[in-house]
Amino acid sequence: MEAFKSILHEAQRIVVLTGAGMSTESGIPDFRSAGGIWTEDASRMEAMSLDYFLSHPRLFWPKFKELFQMKMSGSFEPNEGHLLLAELEKQGKQVDIFTQNIDGLHKKAGSRHVYELHGSIQTAACPACGARYDLPHLLEREVPECTAAGNNGDICGTVLKTDVVLFGDAVMHFDTLYEKLDQADLLLVIGTSLEVAPARFVPEDASLIPGMKKVIINIEPTYCDSLFDMVIHQKIGAFARSLGIKK
Ligand code: NAD
Repeated sequence: MEAFKSILHEAQRIVVLTGAGMSTESGIPDFRSAGGIWTEDASRMEAMSLDYFLSHPRLFWPKFKELFQMKMSGSFEPNEGHLLLAELEKQGKQVDIFTQNIDGLHKKAGSRHVYELHGSIQTAACPACGARYDLPHLLEREVPECTAAGNNGDICGTVLKTDVVLFGDAVMHFDTLYEKLDQADLLLVIGTSLEVAPARFVPEDASLIPGMKKVIINIEPTYCDSLFDMVIHQKIGAFARSLGIKK
């Protein structure tokens, strides 16, 4: 604990990489633990692909909503782990959070520099005319469509594409992650199995940067724990509470 505090104290520019484990204590299940979303039904992965959306846009949405209805309800609150990161920013540190989560909880906790690598569940866009829509519109109908009027006055009507990055879509903000990593003195990895590319390459790449400290907080071991200066196998919310963070 004291060693972790001292690493935090010395760090001025922190790059944080988070995954689903960051939000399990907010009540959102992760993907790969027992009972996780993919563990329960592997065919869901196929339906959440760009290919499936492009070929069956109207079938895609009911499946997407079934899978993500909990997260779309907006009823989740940040846990102490999210608040710890927001607190570090309040202390004057530069904290850039790159999250694989689509739940919006880092922003809800007050962190200002949040990069959603896998997009967001809150918004969608029209593939035909680019019009953008937020959550209330996506929830109005089972299959959300573009309601913008074209030049001829007709409603566009194209099925919207979620801003969540689907399997086969490009991950976002990765160039920024590497720019920030180059200037950082601490990489903090929290609640990710590091099984999904390209996030899985980050710890190894960070090891090539001289002077970079690396800490991972994850309940269970990951394949690259040996690359870190400090490995903490605890729940992030409970760990943050032990550092004095309260909701
Ligand atoms: P993952 O399910 O592969 O791994 C989560 C890791 O977090 C596991 O190793 C688990 O042991 C650990 N963990 C679980 N609870 C924890 C806690 N309280 N404290 C610390 N560690 C904990 O998740 P991942 O690596 O993020 O996988 C990537 C995919 O999962 C991404 O595509 C992401 O979009 C998606 N996802 C996001 C959410 C969300 O938005 N909250 C939820 C589920 C999945």
